[in-house]
Amino acid sequence: MIRALLFLFAMCAGTVAAAQEFNARATVEAIRAEEDRLAVVLSQPVPWRVFVEADPWRLVLDTSEVDWSSADPTAVVVETDWRAGRIRAGWSRLMVELPGPMQVSQAWMETGDGTTITVELEEGAGPTGPLNPQTWEAAPPEEVPTTPRPRQTGDRPLVVALDPGHGGVDPGAERNGLTEAALMLRFARELSEVLTRRGHDVVLTREGDEFVGLRGRSTVARAAGADLMISLHADAVAGGGAEGATVYTLSPGNDSALAAEIAQRHARDDLLLGVEDVEAGDEIARILVELARAETAPRANALADALVGGLNGAAIRLHKRPRLGGKFTVLKAPDIPSVLLELGFMSNPRDLDNIASVDWRSRMAVAIADGIEAWAEADAAEALRLRR
Ligand SMILES: [Zn+2]
Repeated sequence: MIRALLFLFAMCAGTVAAAQEFNARATVEAIRAEEDRLAVVLSQPVPWRVFVEADPWRLVLDTSEVDWSSADPTAVVVETDWRAGRIRAGWSRLMVELPGPMQVSQAWMETGDGTTITVELEEGAGPTGPLNPQTWEAAPPEEVPTTPRPRQTGDRPLVVALDPGHGGVDPGAERNGLTEAALMLRFARELSEVLTRRGHDVVLTREGDEFVGLRGRSTVARAAGADLMISLHADAVAGGGAEGATVYTLSPGNDSALAAEIAQRHARDDLLLGVEDVEAGDEIARILVELARAETAPRANALADALVGGLNGAAIRLHKRPRLGGKFTVLKAPDIPSVLLELGFMSNPRDLDNIASVDWRSRMAVAIADGIEAWAEADAAEALRLRR
């Protein structure tokens, strides 16, 4: 049996070596996940690896970049929860929830008319490492910044990263046929216009309805040299009592049941990355990250306070506790002051009406821009003071 498997993987490796000459992104023609079998049909062969992870049990298929959003929904038959998207430059991941402890019994890729990767599973909790590592070139770990970015001092345009929450396979909250992902993208574009008119530079972490992993969002912001990042959300929460805008900063624990619910909702996306990537890096890298965060955290807190000030000034309705801390992965960039703004709750009818109203949104955009500018001015003054 083992010899047969080795032979199988040797054959896979041969197929894949030839496939690595392809540079174009593969598209998805079909995904079928049944109880003990996964089949993915791609437009072309790609390097790949497959493994199972526990807590919760899930099957992970990593490939060189595949455009998972290209799948025709009618060709996707997956009975359990699943996610797919880019995990880092050049690599994507498909994650399918499993009903319980399972292990990969065999996995292979066939090429012909299309390319099919088939994974067969059986019950059990066997080794969980990748079965076919020879087809997988590990990407270098994401660069950890070792020196803080030069702080803005007001002598150049401010670079604002706007992060429309969710997207692609992850629509976020859904009410009355509206999705949080679409509403936040529209609002990010409107806010971007207001900021651009005021002379600032803006980068969006996603331009369309696509999935971007939580850490990928800070990577986009960092690549653009962002001075700050605002993640935009309007989640729905259980109970329906919550209303008004809230600004979150990163904290080691969740400040309230509300923060815990929202952080947990967003943490589902972390499953895509898998535990080994969530706090990647060796001990030295970890210490550098902590040091950078210690510098960045007070600036993020000041940004959150300034935003609450801006919203207050524009008479935007705030939640009874508008400033909360939570364990949000998207806020973990060690070098960019980052906050998460819940514009309101899609589970609250009045908030939902507001978010759907063009007048309210333009008032909100101006209030946020005012908050950002108030922060930037104070932050620049402090940077100059520290320099002297
Ligand atoms: Zn959200």
